[in-house]
Amino acid sequence: MLELWMLSSGSSGNAVYIATENTRLLIDAGLSGKRLAAALGEIGVDPFSLSGLLLSHDHNDHTCGAGIMARRYKMPLYATDPTWRAAACKMGPIPQTICRLLPSCGSIAFADLTVETFPVPHDAAGPVGFIFRTAKAAIALVTDLGVVTPAILERMRGVNCLVMEANHDEKMLLDGPYPWSLKKRILGNSGHLSNVLAAEALASVVCPATTHVVLAHLSEHNNLPQIAFETVCEKLAIAGPHPGRRLSVQVAERHSPSCNVRLA
Ligand SMILES: [Zn+2]
Ligand SMILES: [Zn+2]
Repeated sequence: MLELWMLSSGSSGNAVYIATENTRLLIDAGLSGKRLAAALGEIGVDPFSLSGLLLSHDHNDHTCGAGIMARRYKMPLYATDPTWRAAACKMGPIPQTICRLLPSCGSIAFADLTVETFPVPHDAAGPVGFIFRTAKAAIALVTDLGVVTPAILERMRGVNCLVMEANHDEKMLLDGPYPWSLKKRILGNSGHLSNVLAAEALASVVCPATTHVVLAHLSEHNNLPQIAFETVCEKLAIAGPHPGRRLSVQVAERHSPSCNVRLA
């Protein structure tokens, strides 16, 4: 069994729960410790039962509750070397006994789950994407990136569940209230992924094994769940890879647990 819950998604805070029979991981902790514990409680998970906390990068919407969660629930905290350096001052003192190094491009093995990491282009220190793989299933988690490179597409190919950033609708962003410097940052190669870029990436990697697509990290001001959903579904339909096959497309909620996926 390989299970996913999107606990919270968007620039107001990100956290993802991934579990197998013998491993329970929290990916990112961009909410207060109290809210993270409440979200885990909502899905029936005791934070003390977590096997570890993995950080994708150092931005606050992924790390602001990381120190408190690791200390309070005494779980190993995994981050790349650049993320440790950038986030150390924000997370407070972390006991050496629970500090773990996450490779920027490599894999780490838990009891019945392998976590593969790969670099993504984003304006943070050493940001990574993830593949979670058991003997029977795999989930890709790719958010916070400006562009999808061929190397990332290669990593995403063949997995059963694709969690992909669909941050903004380009027109809403350009017409919206953000200052030009911020718009430029978001649209840049190290910014965030638009609905169209997410849709194109998904259309090129969806394969017969893919059963679930989850759209994540939607902008509160520059996107709407309906627009992201329709943009992606339209592209997937145009790509028309496997007619008659069941493919679930969901949009992660901003503030509450959503998109529960259970794979074999
Ligand atoms: Zn983020
Ligand atoms: Zn970020």
